[in-house]
Amino acid sequence: MQRLLKYLKPFIFLLILAIALLFLQANADLALPDYLSKIVNVGIQAGGIENAIPQAIRQTEMERLMLFFSAEEKERVLNDYTLVDQSSPDYDRYLSQYPALKDGAIYVLNPIDQAETDWLNPVMAKALLVVYGIEQGMADPTKVSTLGQMNFNGFDISKLPPGTDLFKYMEQMPPAALSQISEGINKRLEAMGSSSLIQAAAEPIQAEYAALGMDVGAVSHKYILNTGKLMLLLTLLSVLCNIGVGFLSSRIAAGFSRNLRKAVFSKVESFSSGEFEKFSTASLITRTTNDITQIQMVVIMMVRMVFYAPIIGVGGVMRAISKDSSMWWILALAVGILILLIFIIFNIAVPKFKIIQSLIDRLNLITRENLSGMMVIRAFNRQDFELKRFDKANRDLTSTSLFVNRVMAVMMPIMMLVLNGISLLIIWVGGKQVAASNMQVGDILAFMQYGMQIIFAFLMLSVMFIILPRAQVSANRIADVLETEPSIVDPENPQSFPPDGKGLLEFRNVSFRYPDAEEYILHDISFVAQPGKVTGIIGPTGSGKSTLVNLIPRFYDVTDGAILIDGVDIRNVTQHELRKRIGFVPQKSSLFSGTIESNLRFGNENAPEELLYKAAEIAQATEFIEAKPEKMDAEISQGGTNVSGGQKQRLSIARALVKQAPINIFDDSFSALDFKTDAALRQALKQQATPGTLLLVTQRVASIMNADQIIVLDEGRIVGKGKHRDLMKTCEIYKDIALSQLSMEELA
Ligand code: ADP
Ligand code: MG
Repeated sequence: MQRLLKYLKPFIFLLILAIALLFLQANADLALPDYLSKIVNVGIQAGGIENAIPQAIRQTEMERLMLFFSAEEKERVLNDYTLVDQSSPDYDRYLSQYPALKDGAIYVLNPIDQAETDWLNPVMAKALLVVYGIEQGMADPTKVSTLGQMNFNGFDISKLPPGTDLFKYMEQMPPAALSQISEGINKRLEAMGSSSLIQAAAEPIQAEYAALGMDVGAVSHKYILNTGKLMLLLTLLSVLCNIGVGFLSSRIAAGFSRNLRKAVFSKVESFSSGEFEKFSTASLITRTTNDITQIQMVVIMMVRMVFYAPIIGVGGVMRAISKDSSMWWILALAVGILILLIFIIFNIAVPKFKIIQSLIDRLNLITRENLSGMMVIRAFNRQDFELKRFDKANRDLTSTSLFVNRVMAVMMPIMMLVLNGISLLIIWVGGKQVAASNMQVGDILAFMQYGMQIIFAFLMLSVMFIILPRAQVSANRIADVLETEPSIVDPENPQSFPPDGKGLLEFRNVSFRYPDAEEYILHDISFVAQPGKVTGIIGPTGSGKSTLVNLIPRFYDVTDGAILIDGVDIRNVTQHELRKRIGFVPQKSSLFSGTIESNLRFGNENAPEELLYKAAEIAQATEFIEAKPEKMDAEISQGGTNVSGGQKQRLSIARALVKQAPINIFDDSFSALDFKTDAALRQALKQQATPGTLLLVTQRVASIMNADQIIVLDEGRIVGKGKHRDLMKTCEIYKDIALSQLSMEELA
């Protein structure tokens, strides 16, 4: 992937935006379990009472609490409360809120900050618990057990005669004895965790609120409702972020793959024939389509998961441990099992992905070959064989894909098993913690949810780990194309052809072998093709004629020697400049989908109408164009399959002529023409107003008999050069070819 990173650059801003949204989403998601635990712990179990600090408390009750405060605690607590009685200015307002105010003065809590809350919580909780316990024991003597526990530092309340008002009794105790009791209480309650302590204090506070005439149920109700609303808002935020991220990730991925496709396509356009042979057309097509689609999918997933999962994972662990640090080992166990599973999959599945991609290549290759060679396959009755070949490729791909998918399918239930096992473990261990008052029920719920979030984060990462290597394969295949430097490149300081150049073509000791081939195909070729003259090239098939002419437009570069046009080495000008000077009709010519006219204008878009007709006339194409009802606007199907071989050749010639280039090269372009048309065409070519340099490659002696110069090629060497008449006498090979085609009289 890193080889393609630079194509992500234009999307950096969107990416950062997406990450910011993910961060927001992750935080919202992580906050939810916390609120759930609050609903259970505070809303339900503690009746909506968050702190062990009552909003208001009767003066009489406060005095009982103060029995268990130290001197400085007493002062600080009283500082946080305001005494309200009939003389207070806000009496009426407070009366409606706390109806018990009419029976006596009450303390109302001042606004306090978090630090003060934290300090007050344990102090008030302990005192509230003890006072409440004593009150209950006094009110109901059957609760002896409650009193029985009130044995602090040797001071056993239950030993006192029944009916004693303990608070009156204690007020008369010496301060030393009282502080002894306080210490005992502290020691006893220290064992409880602070959150459990606060939760336990909720009961006395609820009792106090009831005594004040407040609606206790409403307090709990309000708390749950408010927390619920907050959770709803958080969920909404998370959903919005998620939608935003989805939108951004699609944009990034689609844009990224569009740029990649563009880059690959323009790279391929710059390839010379050598690079095409290296990659094969089928593979290039898979690379621009399937491979890039893979990458696109992965980019979407990456944006959505790769950043989200770690935030959730780390955040989840941190929050879970803050709920209960003693259960960390359960999370570690879960993560350990998951890592092991991912490791196993990684080693089983990933090597297969590489295979899959090359199998797709193969399937493409066979499909392409079959579709383009359909006629031949039918003519030779090879359908069965081809079907089997396709079937095998198809089966290979299917079975490999199936294998990978089966591994994935097995993974899912295993992951679910781990997930459920972990939940069970959390409930089991957490249940014990709750029984020991070390943890609250809501915290188990939250812990469980965090556990799930952590595991899902890991699952996401594991999915990532599985598809990433596949994308890596694709990415490398694409990068291979992008990083291939075309072997034929423009010079750094290009020269230009002389403006008055007429297209003088010279081969100077040219030798050539195909890239990666050992054997030379052309050996020491030297000749000059003059402007206004026809140079014929003849030779048996495989003698190197096409290879020779393909060197002129630099489809390949010469291995040794040089080719010059108007005295300039063709490697010293730009390819564009060079090809502008050449009208080329390749041996295997192809037309493009469109109309006849659009095909003729291929090399010269602004050619005037007359030029098109003129070129068509020289190419002997007028007759059949005129025969079509739409004339020049007749449709040409892809590859030119709806015209005959000869018509295709004539249109290709016309297309080259419309370009009006000084050099024209026809590679076996008359092979599908009948002799009469062949002759007429050559005649017309000769009579052109500005006859450029003409190179005629052919196997027909008749086509070049009248050429100004004939070059005879055999096994890549020039074995004869001259006019027909001379060659008949001097060149054995030429004579053999000529005699095999024409009678003595015709040759004379
Ligand atoms: P001609 O046009 O005279 O029939 P070619 O120039 O097409 O002959 O081929 C000459 C030789 O070059 C042949 O032996 C052929 O096998 C070889 N050849 C042609 N094209 C390639 C190529 N792309 N890679 C390697 N060898 C090639
Ligand atoms: Mg050829």
